Amino acid sequence: MLRTIKRTLLGATVALAVAALSLGVLITWPAPLFAFSLGSGKIIVASDRPIPPSGGERFLRDCERLLNRSPLKAKSRQYRLYVTNDDWRQRLFFIPHRDSWGFAWYYGFAGHAFMSGADFESGQVVHWGYTGTPPRTLAFLCAHELTHVIAWEHIGLNRLHVSQWVWEGLPDYVGMENRETFEQLRDALGDRPVDIPMWAKFGFYPRYRLLVTYFIEKKGWSVDQLLQTRLTEDEATDIMRADEKR
Ligand SMILES: [Zn+2]
Repeated sequence: MLRTIKRTLLGATVALAVAALSLGVLITWPAPLFAFSLGSGKIIVASDRPIPPSGGERFLRDCERLLNRSPLKAKSRQYRLYVTNDDWRQRLFFIPHRDSWGFAWYYGFAGHAFMSGADFESGQVVHWGYTGTPPRTLAFLCAHELTHVIAWEHIGLNRLHVSQWVWEGLPDYVGMENRETFEQLRDALGDRPVDIPMWAKFGFYPRYRLLVTYFIEKKGWSVDQLLQTRLTEDEATDIMRADEKR
């Protein structure tokens, strides 16, 4: 009996390890599952469905423009982005990030990003049947996810020490088409907790973006200072608040 249980457990562990490994391989080399692609410049977008040329080109231009004005400079010659429109592809690739609209993947020396469904003509994200609205456009999501890849390639393993408010706040700051000034964003967010309307209006991580905006624009921090800081979200918020009271 005990031997049977042990054998079953071992079998289950091996099966799980093989599944995790296969998924890892698939996420690292996804290209064979994405038949269509567009772009020859800084960004290549690949999709499981045909990409309309005009909408696709506009999307690439918009995303590249957002990345160009980022305080974090991209080092690689080219970045790849994969769009999973089909249900099964979305389910498969998004297993580790079921509710995310996109995610970035970095494997030591290079990386790429994934986005759930895309409507290139309207520039909107499509996620499990929902359609994103500005400011969370397709170009926003592209710039957000690729900023993760660029940040990874900038700091490598130090990623482990980057606080969540920096890790998500910086890509959000980069991805915003009409970025608010610190004062505008602070006054708009106020002191209330982040709720759905706020999330819809100001993007994924408005509070993180407020902190990043503060340290870049008010404190004059460089992007390296930001990526190296060990300040927690609470500590960073205290500094920002204390500064406002002066
Ligand atoms: Zn993110």
